Amino acid sequence: YFVADEQWSTETVMLKGEQAHHIVRVMRMSPGDVIICIDEGGQAAYSRLAHVHPDEVTCQVEEWLDADTELAINITVAQGDLKADKYEWVVQKATEMGAVTITNFPADHSVVKWDERKSAKRQARFAKIAREAAGQSERLHIPAIERKESLASLTEEASTYNHLWIISEQSAREGNHYALADALGSVKAAENILLIFGPEGGFSEREHLACTRAGFVPVSLGPRILRAETAPVATLAMLVYHVEL
Ligand code: SAM
Repeated sequence: YFVADEQWSTETVMLKGEQAHHIVRVMRMSPGDVIICIDEGGQAAYSRLAHVHPDEVTCQVEEWLDADTELAINITVAQGDLKADKYEWVVQKATEMGAVTITNFPADHSVVKWDERKSAKRQARFAKIAREAAGQSERLHIPAIERKESLASLTEEASTYNHLWIISEQSAREGNHYALADALGSVKAAENILLIFGPEGGFSEREHLACTRAGFVPVSLGPRILRAETAPVATLAMLVYHVEL
């Protein structure tokens, strides 16, 4: 799967830069070979390579596909800043599991304090990981990679979601393990859900209180405390099971 860098018409798409390089130098494809291209609107098509150059590949669309691999709900995963390698893993796995938006924010107990001046470069790397994971998972939507300056910017957007969950160790320690069944049961197709996860150091009491005051449901994943990067994957697996299986 490749994502069109330019689309000239409904029949002609162009791939540039890294994607063109991958087709020509890594996959060693030639004119006449077929790839699957996704246009800006998420529509996929069998596309036959016409002109092939390591900087630029032009394809003729042969057949538009109607396969829909997207989840029926729109999931936003927001996580307090993790060490970069762990967050990269979260971006990759959340993309495989069907998240639509993946967001990070500086949390009170984040072990890493990221230099915001380098944010654009770092976020671009996360976007590349999401793009590659979306391709491998045959998704039609590449998750948006966003950064929020604080948890407050997420809670301010609360009204734009149908469901707000804070997946917290506080909830696990209170033995609140059955909240998830109720929370899952209330999720229906086409709804928007915001999931907030803590960093390696967990949520501060201030953050937890701010979220519950803003209407977030505290959710436990059971009495075992999971690694911060495991929690989003576990939660997404349950949502996928609830929505699709
Ligand atoms: N110290 C470990 C680490 O370095 O990854 C575990 C950190 S755990 C406190 C980090 C986050 O994972 C929590 O803020 C929460 O979002 C989520 N989490 C882990 N286990 C959980 C559980 N049993 N129930 C709910 N959330 C959990």
